[in-house]
Amino acid sequence: MAFTLIFIMVAMALSACGSTTPAPGAAGGASTDAGKTTASTLDAIKKRGKLVAGVKFDTKLFGLKDPGTGKVEGFDIDLAKALAKQILGDETKLELKEVTSKTRIPMLNNGDIDMIIATMTITEERKKEVEFSDVYFKAGQSLLVKKGSAIKSVADVKKGVKALAVKGSTSTTNIRAKAPEATVLEFENYQEAFTALKAGQGDTLTTDNAILYGMVKQDPNYEVVGGTFTDEPYGMAIRKGDTAYTAYVNEFLKSIKTSGQYDKLYEQWIGEKPSK
Ligand code: GLU
Repeated sequence: MAFTLIFIMVAMALSACGSTTPAPGAAGGASTDAGKTTASTLDAIKKRGKLVAGVKFDTKLFGLKDPGTGKVEGFDIDLAKALAKQILGDETKLELKEVTSKTRIPMLNNGDIDMIIATMTITEERKKEVEFSDVYFKAGQSLLVKKGSAIKSVADVKKGVKALAVKGSTSTTNIRAKAPEATVLEFENYQEAFTALKAGQGDTLTTDNAILYGMVKQDPNYEVVGGTFTDEPYGMAIRKGDTAYTAYVNEFLKSIKTSGQYDKLYEQWIGEKPSK
């Protein structure tokens, strides 16, 4: 009799426990399907036989889609290819999905993409929503202007100056903090912002220096001025809680650094050796 009672009490305690404990990985309400966040992305990629990477289509040197050929190219793209090769033994087992600065975190959390490799700065704010790999590129925010512009540095971005930036980027937040008097106009992506600058809708376009150098390559009538006024360390972003895949990606980054592949790609796209 006593035994039966204890048994029932234990069973009740266990079931109560089961109903109140939240599913692992469900924290933050990141996904409607808890399974997506609980199981490691690595297993999902292997099962599917394809890595789905969220990359930029609007950023020369990192991820730019050529409208003629339909090919997407850049440093981020080549890193995604190398990762697909490492996981699946074949760099073509890769799907590149376009993200913008604004859509990348929602797309990751919806399960649309396995990860973000898209000029994304590691910030404390973003760490609340995603996991970040180790730093794979060091950028800093700067200013792009038409050659001969009176703007020489961020100190010149004063009242009456129109600064163009992209929605969802750290660049918009940073320029508002550094140049609170200026007017900031926000665009959906970098090609739109650059088109607006060329059409005279603004006085300067502000974002990471590396992105701006890509624009100078597209149109040498523009130049990057004033050095950098922030640090923008890039990381690959992974769904919150997926520490297994984050660790895998960090090992991947170490392995391509050791093999020399990282340096080769860096030089190919950035045009110089990575700083140590
Ligand atoms: N690295 C900055 C950021 O993550 C600017 C580049 C971008 O918009 O992706 O916001």
